[in-house]
Formats: sequence, C-alpha cells, structure tokens
Amino acid sequence: MKAIDAHAHLRKNAKGFDKIAESGAFEEIWLMDLSGVRLNGVEFASQREILQVSKDFKGRVRAFGHLDLDGAADQPDRLAEAGFAGLKPYKPRFPYSDERYFPIYERAQALKMPVLFHTGLVAKGPAWDGEGGGRSFGPVNMQPQYLAAVAEAFPDLKIMQGHLGWPHLEQTEQNLYYYKNITCDVSGFRRLIGDMPAFFDKKCNDGSARPRFFNHKTMFATDQFYGEDADNRAALKILEFWKLYFELVGSVYWRWGQPEEAEKFFRSNAAEIREYCGWQ
Ligand SMILES: [Zn+2]
Repeated sequence: MKAIDAHAHLRKNAKGFDKIAESGAFEEIWLMDLSGVRLNGVEFASQREILQVSKDFKGRVRAFGHLDLDGAADQPDRLAEAGFAGLKPYKPRFPYSDERYFPIYERAQALKMPVLFHTGLVAKGPAWDGEGGGRSFGPVNMQPQYLAAVAEAFPDLKIMQGHLGWPHLEQTEQNLYYYKNITCDVSGFRRLIGDMPAFFDKKCNDGSARPRFFNHKTMFATDQFYGEDADNRAALKILEFWKLYFELVGSVYWRWGQPEEAEKFFRSNAAEIREYCGWQ
C-alpha cells in the first residue's frame, strides 16, 4: 500500500526530490509553501519552485500556498489561479477564529481549497523587535480549539489540523469528536506515542452518516523538509515506523490496526479530501 504524505515542505534549491517522488513509497506528497519563513536556518523553496515541482509530478505532488491571514481576502483566488490546490497559514497575528479572517475562509470554502492549519508546539521565532506587526509568538493563536469556531462557521471547509496540537491534546480530541470537517495529521508527534492506541480508537459524534473513529480522521504525514538525500531517508524511516506500529502493535491488539482501518490513516482519509476537492 502506498501512502499519502499529507504535510511536507520543500527546501530552496531542492535536490533529489525526484528520488522520493519516484520511490514508489508515496502515492502523493502534499507540499506546504513556507517561502519567506526561515526555521532553524533552513531556507524554504519559493512559490515558483513549489509550483514547478507540482507540475513536474502532476497528480503526485499537491502544492499548498502560503496564506497570510493578515493579508488580502482574495488570496485564495489568486493562489488557486497560480496553481495551488490548498492553503497553509502560519503564525497569524490573531487567533485562527478571529472574524477578520472569515472572508478568507469563505473564499477557501467556495473554491474547495483545504486549509492546513499549524497547531500546537511551534518553532521559535525571533525576539520582539518593537515593531509589533506581522507575527505571533508561541502557539497561542494556533490552538486547536480556535478551529472549532472556523469549522462551525464554514461547515464545508476542509480543515486539516497540522500535528496533534500538543500541548492542547484535549482540544484536538474535541475537534475530531465533534466536527465532521476537521481532520488532523500525526506529523512531528511521537511524544505520547503510548497514548495513541486509545486515541485512534476514540469514537466521533460529528454527524457523519456512519460512526467514525479517530483513525478515520487522522492522517499520516512526515512534515519533512525535502531537498536532500538525508531528508528522503528520514521520510522513509517515518513511514516505516508508522507501518510497523500499525502492523506489530495495532493489528495484534487494536481495532484500528486491522488492514482496512490502517489504510484510512495511510491514504484514504487524504484521498477523501482529494476527491471532495476534485483534484486531478
Ligand atoms: Zn509543517
């Protein structure tokens, strides 16, 4: 079974990305544009580089454009025209649920562009410089619970919660339990791996026609910064880790580890978003 990497990034002047795209391990890789952001010295690919890769690997790489929530309301339209399939905001000045952002969400919903929101623990930014504009500090504005408000206001917007939102796991659980249009990914999270068996087995009450469990709303992702051979190896290692976890722990002891349940986590939850959005 091939997996969908539902949350990854691309480095500037990436090399060897073709090797991972053609490795046979991934059905698709979804690349989040972080151009302009510098994390721990890493420089990210430009908008153009990301779009080029998504053209070179058409149908196998999806590009999510960087969305500045404090910017213009027509960004989803402009990013869709440029060729982006989805959107990725990061470090907004106000909480995700601030109504000033609603016109942007309205456009994203109308255009069927899923939005991957970073939640929880976040890379540290530079210290305050007295200017005060343009960035937030820590995960304060990116707590999972703010997405509950967005999910209610925009019930047809596909809300992808990047990561599990630690240290706000209870908020994540509430989101998955109660809101049909919120999913999350496991990338970057291994801190409480021992709690995951019970997590995947939790039941939703989100209005879905058939009862769902959390493994039906949680997606595999690497959050890898692709662009060097070591990144490819790291991504394959993460994939192997989760495959073994599902096979050797899940399928032996838990409902979610059965092959048809595991398949939801590795690919079909993401494929459902793809189908809803009509991506070719
Ligand atoms: Zn990321």
